Amino acid sequence: MQWEQVLAPRMGRMKASEIRELLKLLDQPDIISFAGGIPDPALFPVAAFQGALTAALAPGKADAALQYSVSEGYLPLRQWLAAHMTGLGIPCGVDNILITSGSQQALDYLGKLMIGTGDTVLVNWPTYMGALGAFNAYEPVYDRLDPRDNRGAAEYTAKAAEAGGRVKFAYLSVDFANPTGETIPRADRERVLDLADDLGAAIVEDAAYQALRFDGEAVPPILALEIARKAKTGGSIEDCRTIYCGSFSKTLAPGLRVGWVCAASPVIGRLVLMKQAADLHSSTLNQMAIADVAANLFESHVAGLREVYKARRDHMLAALSREMPKGVSWTRPEGGMFVWITLPETMDGAALLARSLETERVAFVPGRAFFADGSGGNTIRLSFSRADEAAIDEGIRRLGRLIAAD
Ligand code: PMP
Repeated sequence: MQWEQVLAPRMGRMKASEIRELLKLLDQPDIISFAGGIPDPALFPVAAFQGALTAALAPGKADAALQYSVSEGYLPLRQWLAAHMTGLGIPCGVDNILITSGSQQALDYLGKLMIGTGDTVLVNWPTYMGALGAFNAYEPVYDRLDPRDNRGAAEYTAKAAEAGGRVKFAYLSVDFANPTGETIPRADRERVLDLADDLGAAIVEDAAYQALRFDGEAVPPILALEIARKAKTGGSIEDCRTIYCGSFSKTLAPGLRVGWVCAASPVIGRLVLMKQAADLHSSTLNQMAIADVAANLFESHVAGLREVYKARRDHMLAALSREMPKGVSWTRPEGGMFVWITLPETMDGAALLARSLETERVAFVPGRAFFADGSGGNTIRLSFSRADEAAIDEGIRRLGRLIAAD
């Protein structure tokens, strides 16, 4: 079979993710991994999920738990989320919430919703590679979003027209970003809102790590800032261009695949049509389990996660200060799971990884795949979420030794 003859043009844009390939290596017991941005399974609220699943499958409830359900999502979960979002400064109701199979599905649907071939998506350099992967299927062009570079809307629009489309949306990983660990400051969020207003474009706010702040002051979500602007003239979320994507993956359990979108109801309505067409609805049982566990222990559980991850972040930053040679710099995240390392310009993260796996048995993610233009070869992403403190000390010591020898 000549598969090339039958493949759609979009497949030309879809490549195996370096992270997925790497995850295959992590099962080898002697590897110290700073690679995957995934929760420490030792911290999963297992007993709470056992109780929730048993309750969902009890007589009288099992019929609903195992049955098809509505595309919008399980109502008690949407109610909990509407209250949760209201607590984040985003007053909204259940009509503003769609449950998705992880926020990754939301990114796919939003690409499908807005991107025509040759349209422009604005992203940070670097940005979450999973977002690039989701959007690539819809054949966009990427332009660099840097709120401080003072490029006006006219410049973005002209460049997008040259590429054969228009700017459809800006995508931002806002808090403790994947991959840099950095948080977009309030003033920059306001600038992005101004720019999107001028462009008539939407904003996709990816808040996957929002709940994992260890220190510093919380920055309001872009959607909250936009609602505050609209409220001055009697408006609400219904007048907003920002589409907020949330996830339970980093707080409760990624394997259950439960995320959500919070946006103006006409956007939610269109996404519901997509969900109907694509997978009908997210797993009913999983949504029930998440709803139960979130209602009972979301805040206390996340407080516990913050404590553990904060200690690991502190440990990693201290180890980096001790072990990294001159010419290497790194970010100091206030939460999340990542530290972003910039190596001397002549070094290549992918080559370093190959050597590291061979001689030092330390895994991390080379940075280039996070750049829409393929630059950033001298960067790497380290995750501190899964390794314990002894492994962090040892892993960073080995990495420092390897970089110094280069
Ligand atoms: N956005 C960001 C920034 C992420 O880091 C991830 C997971 N790595 C996702 C979205 C997708 O997460 P999920 O589909 O599990 O909600």
